[in-house]
Amino acid sequence: MSPSSTTPPATVHGYPRQGPNRELKKAIEGYWAGRVTAADLRTAAAGLRRDTWRRLTEAGIAEVPTGDFSLYDHVLDATVAVGAVPERHRAAVEADPLDGYFAMARGTQAVAPLEMTKWFDTNYHYLVPELGPDTAFAANSSKAVGELREAIALGHTARPVLVGPLTYLLLAKPAPGVAADFRPLTLLDRLLPVYAELLADLRAAGAEWVQLDEPALVQDRSPAELNAAARIYRDLGALADRPRILVATYFGRAGEALPILARAPIEGVALDFTGPGAANLDELAAVGGLPGKRLVAGVVDGRNIWINDLEKSLATLATLLGLADRVDVAPSCSLLHVPLDADAERDLDPQVARWLAFARQKTDETVLLARALSQGTHTLTAELAANRADLASRAASALTHDPAVRARAGAATAEHARRARTYPERAEAQRARLGLPLLPTTTIGSFPQTTELRTARADLRAGRLGADGYRERMEAEVREVIAYQEKAGLDVLVHGEPERNDMVQYFAEQLTGYLATRHGWVQSYGTRYVRPPVLAGDISRPHPMTVDWYRFAQDLTDRPVKGMLTGPVTMLAWSFVRDDQPLADTARQVALALREEVTDLEAAGAAVIQVDEPALRETLPLRAADRPAYLAWATGAFRLSTSGVRADTQIHTHMCYAEFGEIMTAIDELDADVISLEAARSHMQVAHELAGAGYPREVGPGVYDIHSPRVPGTEEAAALLRAGLAAIPAERLWVNPDCGLKTRGWPETRASLEHLVEAARLVRAELTG
Ligand code: GLN
Ligand code: ZN
Repeated sequence: MSPSSTTPPATVHGYPRQGPNRELKKAIEGYWAGRVTAADLRTAAAGLRRDTWRRLTEAGIAEVPTGDFSLYDHVLDATVAVGAVPERHRAAVEADPLDGYFAMARGTQAVAPLEMTKWFDTNYHYLVPELGPDTAFAANSSKAVGELREAIALGHTARPVLVGPLTYLLLAKPAPGVAADFRPLTLLDRLLPVYAELLADLRAAGAEWVQLDEPALVQDRSPAELNAAARIYRDLGALADRPRILVATYFGRAGEALPILARAPIEGVALDFTGPGAANLDELAAVGGLPGKRLVAGVVDGRNIWINDLEKSLATLATLLGLADRVDVAPSCSLLHVPLDADAERDLDPQVARWLAFARQKTDETVLLARALSQGTHTLTAELAANRADLASRAASALTHDPAVRARAGAATAEHARRARTYPERAEAQRARLGLPLLPTTTIGSFPQTTELRTARADLRAGRLGADGYRERMEAEVREVIAYQEKAGLDVLVHGEPERNDMVQYFAEQLTGYLATRHGWVQSYGTRYVRPPVLAGDISRPHPMTVDWYRFAQDLTDRPVKGMLTGPVTMLAWSFVRDDQPLADTARQVALALREEVTDLEAAGAAVIQVDEPALRETLPLRAADRPAYLAWATGAFRLSTSGVRADTQIHTHMCYAEFGEIMTAIDELDADVISLEAARSHMQVAHELAGAGYPREVGPGVYDIHSPRVPGTEEAAALLRAGLAAIPAERLWVNPDCGLKTRGWPETRASLEHLVEAARLVRAELTG
């Protein structure tokens, strides 16, 4: 099937892996559980690849990607392809490559897995390569070549996709035992011959083109890193025995890397023209385009779930036609980050469903744009008119334009986003109202989400349990959690969040303007898929969301119970957000809805209200130049949600990480009275950093690492507290775990919290005695 002159030049970088009914998840988890053989897993995986390629080809994609498929993660696949298997996993990989692969991904009783972290600013997690001065790379092209051969055998024109060498090295970290300042990029000389071998193998297997993904080039890069990029593509380009090379950048603008790629002796460049990538259009023109090269133009946003503005994309493409030898239409990045098929969403209002484009619809849009490009827009008048009508209906809809919400957002002033009193005044009022001991103890919010709780929720969904029965079970749990905390001697209690399936979804389900999908699964990592809510319209709060639970819990005890909410930035970060208005405007609407909840909690008697913002840092734009604007609206939204309370109402926030670095100022600008954060593993280092930056308010650096079932001893927790006291004065230090306890079991939770309370008593006695 070689592309004919009428075949529109359309392609995609990658496609969702799991299959229409999450077949891949079932096959892999079945294999782990011993129910599925390795052969059956391989057959299932090959079947899914075959179906994807067929679907893409039938849709009109001329050149299908291969190698983007993965049994777990494409960065782990790259680690295997370059032979960078960590020492501790080598024996397992040699004994059985498949089991060894999963051991690297998930660990075994005996060996730890690779660390997992977020793939750029998406919610996909990759496995971090571990490299050191002794790393010896060796090419292993079996997966890449095998999948290419499969596609060719099925009659497709295929383009293998690999993580590029620069991105691979920049995503790596020093292996355990290697000096922390080791820079993986120093291994480039050793890595390049391995890539040369991979390219040669793919060429020999029939690849005309190979795509090397270099999303690291959309981040700010040092001159040395840019030089490395130039060198990589000069050297790979100079190889005699190689396929044509397409270097793909996505998730933003290529910036300083653009002229390097334009000059490199490679045959193609893929650029993102959506979101912050839109700047690529002018920058490409400024460097004189890509004469003699193929441009893969990412004009269909691969990260959101909204239909494309086809006319706008056509205008972009018209400009691009003059800037390269050949222009292919493509989504901006792999479609891995969107669900599979919006047509499966039968429960949505059909009008709203027409605004949605998942992987399948984005593929169709890509082909449509390519067709318009090669055959002229007059051949597609009906499609373009339908697109215009859908966009117009979205713009005119009551869902996206609620006058009451807009009036409220318009009326909110800077004054609303500022507490009326200064922190010292508030601290005094709060001290008088709460009467807490020195080093007050608390937890972050959730208590263990037991099987019984999850079963009750499943029963409610399936109709086996009525709403009243469900509430009774949750209330029984709250009773137990409150009684336990009193007995354990904690000072500020929580209700335990048993009723929350997820800290974002719980609120999304209750806010007007959010939609839920039935099949909108996207890969978070490995076989874990999430269904992010869709923030589709103007946000309002028809009724209080947490007040009844707060009240129920507070009525059970004389100690203060914290109101517990998810903050505006996190509500956006873990959802699909609308693309028809600035994020700042969306955040403001969410903040105002939360502000009503905060006010209602206060009116119901809550003296302490916690607004979690674990996503504040992960949503940080990839380019430093874009960060101040982001941090300004993000911190502004947080303050807007929390500043409507009296001076004696204490606002807490929580974040799940300890490296503040460049967001230190932003943390301060939240103006929360108390912040709790992760610190146990880094031995309270963050307390010292906050103190060093002059952070003036109260801090609860975690003394119990909840990421492990390990129970910290009393003396260990006390030692951490003393370390905290070296940085933060006792009057401003809280005692709490690193994060919520929902993933923990009750036995370790009980033991750990009792030690935590004991440690607080011990250190209090040292201070006062
Ligand atoms: N309050 C939430 C909990 O305890 C916070 C979770 C989080 O920070 N991710 O579960
Ligand atoms: Zn947390």
